Amino acid sequence: MYLKSLEVSGFKSFAKKAVLHFTAPITGIVGPNGSGKSNTAEAFRFVLGEQSIKSLRGKRGEDMIWNGGGEGASSAGRANRASAKLTFDNSRRMFSTIDFDEVTIERIVHRDNSNEYLLNGTQVRLKDIIELLASAHVGATGHHIISQGEADRILSASIRERREMIEDALGLKIYQWKKLESIRKLERTDENMKQVESLRREIAPHLRFLKKQVEKVEKAEEMRRDLISIYKVYFANEEQYVTVEKSRLHAEIAGPKKELTELEQALNKAREILSASKNKDVTSNELISLEKKLAETRTETDTVVRELGRIEGEINANKRAKEKEEGRMKQEEFKTVYLKDVEEVIRKAELFQTVKEVIDAFRHFIKGHRSANDSQFIAEMEKEIARLSLEKKDLDEKRVSLAEFEKKIIGEYNSLKQKIEHEKDTNRDAEKEVFRIIARQNEVRHIVSGLNAEIVRIEQIESEFKRELGEAGIIVGREATEYKKLEAGSQESGESQRHEQSERKHQIERLKIRLEDMGAGGGAEVMKEYKETEERDAFLAREILDLDKASVELKKLITDLDVRIDVEFKQGILKINKEFTNYFSLMFGGGHAELTVIREARRRKKGDAEELGDMLSGDSDSLTTNSELLTTDEGPEGLEVNVSLPRKKVKGLMMLSGGERALTSIALLFAISQVNPPPFIILDETDAALDEANSRKYGDMIENLSKASQLILITHNRETMSRAGVLYGVTMGADGASKLLSIQFEEAVKVAK
Ligand code: ATP
Repeated sequence: MYLKSLEVSGFKSFAKKAVLHFTAPITGIVGPNGSGKSNTAEAFRFVLGEQSIKSLRGKRGEDMIWNGGGEGASSAGRANRASAKLTFDNSRRMFSTIDFDEVTIERIVHRDNSNEYLLNGTQVRLKDIIELLASAHVGATGHHIISQGEADRILSASIRERREMIEDALGLKIYQWKKLESIRKLERTDENMKQVESLRREIAPHLRFLKKQVEKVEKAEEMRRDLISIYKVYFANEEQYVTVEKSRLHAEIAGPKKELTELEQALNKAREILSASKNKDVTSNELISLEKKLAETRTETDTVVRELGRIEGEINANKRAKEKEEGRMKQEEFKTVYLKDVEEVIRKAELFQTVKEVIDAFRHFIKGHRSANDSQFIAEMEKEIARLSLEKKDLDEKRVSLAEFEKKIIGEYNSLKQKIEHEKDTNRDAEKEVFRIIARQNEVRHIVSGLNAEIVRIEQIESEFKRELGEAGIIVGREATEYKKLEAGSQESGESQRHEQSERKHQIERLKIRLEDMGAGGGAEVMKEYKETEERDAFLAREILDLDKASVELKKLITDLDVRIDVEFKQGILKINKEFTNYFSLMFGGGHAELTVIREARRRKKGDAEELGDMLSGDSDSLTTNSELLTTDEGPEGLEVNVSLPRKKVKGLMMLSGGERALTSIALLFAISQVNPPPFIILDETDAALDEANSRKYGDMIENLSKASQLILITHNRETMSRAGVLYGVTMGADGASKLLSIQFEEAVKVAK
């Protein structure tokens, strides 16, 4: 025996606390109409979690609460809550999950329609109650609680509802729960999967973008490395070039520079020489004056010589005149006159214009001389000769001194002339030298300026090189400037080196531009973000895999459950049919009855899982019937009841009388209960339509059934009452409240009436 007691308080007509103890396999509840018997069956449904208030004959949860009795003063006041509490004997662990010998399940409904569920006094969810009961084959669907007038519900139900009722009775509900739970999980999994997939889709473009960025960063890094190595080679070569070229040029320019200084000195010297030749004029003036002096001397000498000649002539003439006079003195005729006097006469004569004048002059001359004293004349002559000789002597002396002077001047002149000639030669050389030096200076200056230009060029290269060094440091970091360790391409030289360098420079510029275009910086951040995003993506991918795996597993579980339900259901049907036909022929003294599985047009109710979920979580007072709720994919298969009565040709439920119908349904209910006995069965006036003979058969069957399940029978039937081990009488007083009392069979018969 599993059921110990039912305690109701404030529940419907049970205003006060009332307890039913189920101490026997069969408990009978008897009482007059309207006393509250059915309310006890409903208390069972209520406490077992029935959500359909309609099936509890109410509109709202509040209708479950004692609402006060009649108008009389004695009537008790309204209750604020209704409660029903079932106590089970769990010593055989019918509830395997609860490690107590006694299990109490209590439901309380408040006026605000809120419900409380208590398991051994602890508040739990409806879901927990339902699961617990299902595990002990005490379903809330109430296949084991047959309400008043509901006996033939199993016959009037649709084939699908019937199937569900029987599935429940066969204990397949637990699998249905599991299946629905799995479906729900599957839906959740699919939903999660969609979400995760959408998340993954969402980050995909970002990830692609980041990947490209990372590739860019890597590419940029690669370029940076390339740039560094090119820079190093470039710098090493450039430095070497600059150093070598500078020292070469400085060495090369030293010679020409020295030469220039020397040339300058030489030029100065030559110029000095030239400027010294300015004295040339003085010398030539001196020469001219010497020449003049010489000419003067010569003229003077000429005059002296002429005078000498004249004097000598005069002397000679005088000498001859004297001799002549001396002779004439001997001979008058041969008187001599002075030529000078003659010449004087002639000279005068030349000035005369007329011959007469000339003749007169000569006559005068001759007359003058004829009368001369000859001796005086000779003295005079001698005197004159002496004077002339003296004069001649002076002149001779003068002539000698003049000759000496001339000789001296000539000497001077010659030496001066020689000096001038010599000077002329020296100047010519100096001039030549100046020209030569200037020409050479021009040449050398050209060379020097060429070299200087080269030096300037090299210095520009050097400063450009330094600028580039700084720039490289900024662009690619210090590493690029650490080129000293590198050996410059020493084999490269001259033009080929410059060519190589300009190639490198081009490469450097290209790389620099590309690096700039790429926009360096933020590389580490991009890498980090990419890594994180990639990890997130990988995580999501794994999540999808996991979800997919879970989905596959759930689908498999669902299929397994379907198979299990199907197999167990069909096996159950076979067993039920065996019992069913037994009970049926027992009731009808023959005949045949069976359930057949038939297919129905597939029609699946949408949202089953959600409604089930609501029901499981206990937040809904859904009015939906259980049968509707439990519609599943298995829907297409339903159950049909086929009966054939003995001695009657008619077949099918439609042809049965009310009593026959009641008997058939009882047979079926008992058959079901026989196959998979529930811990207890409540039958509310199921026997109402039975005649005496059938009541006895019913009584036999009850007794048989009570071996496996505890029975609570609400009845007016005497036969039934007689089978009960414990009898309770329910009465209702003037206050409208039901009262409960334990009674004996005789009393019961009375009470029932
Ligand atoms: P019958 O033998 O005719 O089937 P019964 O003994 O099964 O009768 P019930 O149907 O269990 O009687 O009881 C119905 C009685 O319970 C009615 O009198 C009804 O007024 C009363 N009742 C139902 N709900 C409440 C409530 N909330 N408060 C007070 N009384 C209630």
